[in-house]
Amino acid sequence: MDNVDVVVIGAGASGLMCAATAGYRGKKVVVLDHANKAGKKILMSGGGRCNFTNMDAAPKHFLSDNPHFCISALRRFSSQDFVDLVDRHRLDYVEKAPGQLFCEHSAKDLLEILLTELEWSGAELKLNTKIYNIDFQDGQTVVKTNQGSFTCKSLVVATGGLSIPTMGATGFGYDIAKQVGHEILPTRASLVPITIQPNRKMQLAELSGIACEIAATASGVTFQEPMLFTHRGVSGPSILQITNFWQPGEALTINIAPTLSLDELLEVRQSTPKKATKASCQTYYQSG
Ligand SMILES: Cc1cc2nc3c(=O)[nH]c(=O)nc-3n(C[C@H](O)[C@H](O)[C@H](O)COP(=O)(O)OP(=O)(O)OC[C@H]3O[C@@H](n4cnc5c(N)ncnc54)[C@H](O)[C@@H]3O)c2cc1C
Repeated sequence: MDNVDVVVIGAGASGLMCAATAGYRGKKVVVLDHANKAGKKILMSGGGRCNFTNMDAAPKHFLSDNPHFCISALRRFSSQDFVDLVDRHRLDYVEKAPGQLFCEHSAKDLLEILLTELEWSGAELKLNTKIYNIDFQDGQTVVKTNQGSFTCKSLVVATGGLSIPTMGATGFGYDIAKQVGHEILPTRASLVPITIQPNRKMQLAELSGIACEIAATASGVTFQEPMLFTHRGVSGPSILQITNFWQPGEALTINIAPTLSLDELLEVRQSTPKKATKASCQTYYQSG
């Protein structure tokens, strides 16, 4: 049985940052993950270039039933702290929209930084590790895995959310929270594209790949940003954002000409000459 100070379960962005921080503080740390690779979601984030921070990150931008939850975390580690970290590693990055920082080349560069930090902190990473059982006994926690058992003083569960099981996501964190007596609120998809019923897909198929500025409204909140037609439905910033607010069963309104009033639209129509057709030409000449 290995005896360590901290076991971190999950080698995603959260687990890697947490493990490196504990390692730098002199703790003996092991990170366990059932996947064959660390940080798979980081690699797909931001379209493969990871939007790694936003300089405008503030509690008011976090959605939660408990709005105070993120305040102390953001106070103790700000976006600037993360920028200082990537600067120390000479990461090339770009600011896309104001405040949104993306890797210039690839999200791989960001993952590389987190793995380097982990290594420099002295924390150990164990992949392909299946967790069998967690026992809480007399102030000690015993984590039983296919790679042996680990006893620790502190256990960190950083197994992420439920989205994209093919990237290793499981409900493990929720199960552990239940095991130790926490109440679990119902989960729902959020920051996601919208898929359209199969019988409607054909109607949109030809638009796939086209983006336009729209206004999406649900629950009294509107986002006027680009929307992208995809082969499965609609996506893009306006759609991802509105799914944070839309509730199943509620109406979601998409205005595809938000900058044009009906009066302007009719004026544009009237001032556009109709395209000539054989029938319209015949009518024109026959009427003298
Ligand atoms: C398409 C897409 C694009 C995104 N783009 C961005 C972006 O640009 N910027 C941004 O900030 N965020 C982005 N996100 C969100 C971001 O990826 C997540 O918020 C972040 O990766 C969550 O990190 P995490 O460490 O909490 O969880 P995860 O990254 O999900 O890591 C959890 C880890 O736990 C492991 N694990 C799970 N269950 C078990 C188990 N039972 N036993 C052992 N290990 C287990 C998993 O293998 C995984 O390695 C994006 C997400 C998606 C899906």
